[in-house]
Amino acid sequence: MSDEATTTFEQSLRGRLVRPSHPDYDDVRKLYNGMIDKRPRLIARCVNVADVITAVNFGRDNGLLIAIRGGAHNGPGLASVDDGLVIDLSLMKGVRVDPEKRTVRVESGCTSGDVDHATHPFRLAVPFGIVSTTGVPGLTLGGGTGYLTRQYGLTIDNLFEADVVLADGRFVTASQTQNPDLLWALRGGGGNFGVVTSFLFQAHPVSQVYAGPIFWDAAHARAIMRAYRDFLPNAPEELGAFVGLKTFPSTDPFPRDHWGKRACAVISSYNGSAEDGEKAISPLLKALPAPVFNWMGAMPFPAIQRLFDPFFPKGLQWYWKGDFVKSLPDEVIDTHIAQAAKAPSELSLMHLYPIDGAVHRVGKDATAWAARDATWSMVIAGIDAEPKKAGDLKQWARGYWEAVHPYNLEGAYVNFMMDDEGDARIRATYGDNYKRLAAIKHKYDANNVFRVNQNVKPASS
Ligand SMILES: Cc1cc2nc3c(=O)[nH]c(=O)nc-3n(C[C@H](O)[C@H](O)[C@H](O)COP(=O)(O)OP(=O)(O)OC[C@H]3O[C@@H](n4cnc5c(N)ncnc54)[C@H](O)[C@@H]3O)c2cc1C
Repeated sequence: MSDEATTTFEQSLRGRLVRPSHPDYDDVRKLYNGMIDKRPRLIARCVNVADVITAVNFGRDNGLLIAIRGGAHNGPGLASVDDGLVIDLSLMKGVRVDPEKRTVRVESGCTSGDVDHATHPFRLAVPFGIVSTTGVPGLTLGGGTGYLTRQYGLTIDNLFEADVVLADGRFVTASQTQNPDLLWALRGGGGNFGVVTSFLFQAHPVSQVYAGPIFWDAAHARAIMRAYRDFLPNAPEELGAFVGLKTFPSTDPFPRDHWGKRACAVISSYNGSAEDGEKAISPLLKALPAPVFNWMGAMPFPAIQRLFDPFFPKGLQWYWKGDFVKSLPDEVIDTHIAQAAKAPSELSLMHLYPIDGAVHRVGKDATAWAARDATWSMVIAGIDAEPKKAGDLKQWARGYWEAVHPYNLEGAYVNFMMDDEGDARIRATYGDNYKRLAAIKHKYDANNVFRVNQNVKPASS
């Protein structure tokens, strides 16, 4: 790759090309997960589709490994690559709401908070995740779970259309009528198929919600997890409620006498009035001892979406393990509690996010996401600010996962995997859909130009 070629590339971009010698390089290359430290050769900060096409062509023609960057929240840092080219979309922030059709066109630099901000004045929302700084593209292409999932499905179940720059530089639209196989693959198949420059989503009526966390002392964890397990299948789908094994944060406004002690929490959002929300959660609460606090209350939907943002600033150390979970027998609940008690830091957690309700009404082969029979997406996350803790976080998450995995399904949400899971795990995640995904990968990216991801290998290789 000659200097001349790089200069020509730089001059053809409307956005900036950041090289290692640039004063902003260290800042721009930083990822959300502080455990990952990658040094790309070039970062193309694209501002429009033309920049993306130019960047894909340059990377491919010069044999560079290409990473695609949206919100940079990916656990193993697959939004960057050592010595390769990062196609950084984070400056592409356009959002356009069509209140009549209830659709939203979202450019790939948006976080879920950017979209909530744009849709809320229209009393609409798209189902995204539970932390508003998470990028829309990575979350969507992996599947997308959050508070609205039980009622309105995964994020991909609300994806109608995507604009994509393919490995050969062509710009195409994926929809039910144009390249429908590509749309099928994008709905859960990750960043394997091209660079998505914008998404068209279905939005839903969501405005005020009854939402917030309820925390108990961990001594009650067994009763809470059992009651939650039995309660969830019959709970109204307007109620998105996940259970977590956590620690009371040592900070205000949490009660001081509980700071740093182990906790079990149910964190919920009911899409509707406070009165209906209280009614929806009350069968669970009636079955349980009084919590240390119940901070559920009426709030605008974007408020619950960003409630936990301050606890998870950019730059913490993260190590994740996930699984799809179909059922929670009593014995695995006990295993969870024993493993969670060994958490190496206050922020480390286990969450079980519900993926029932509307998710189960979509066929296993209707999208790339095959786990339509799972009840929860589990994540075990070792998290801490201190880089020296990295080894402890990994060891704890791996040990915890090994203890509970035999009770779970084979695969996991691709967005809750690091990059050390291996090919068999990715195949298990996609199950019977893997073969079709590999064939579509061959059609759109036969040379595996886009392989810095949870990689689906092109069928013929
Ligand atoms: C604090 C936190 C909370 C989270 N909560 C949730 C949650 O509630 N629900 C949930 O579902 N997930 C959640 N996640 C996981 C999240 O979905 C993933 O981390 C996801 O990768 C984030 O998307 P991103 O755009 O920020 O990713 P990035 O790191 O920017 O990209 C990740 C990968 O996605 C692909 N990609 C990104 N942009 C594009 C594009 N435009 N075109 C093609 N491929 C692309 C690439 O393969 C890239 O390597 C959470 C993560 C964090 C850190």
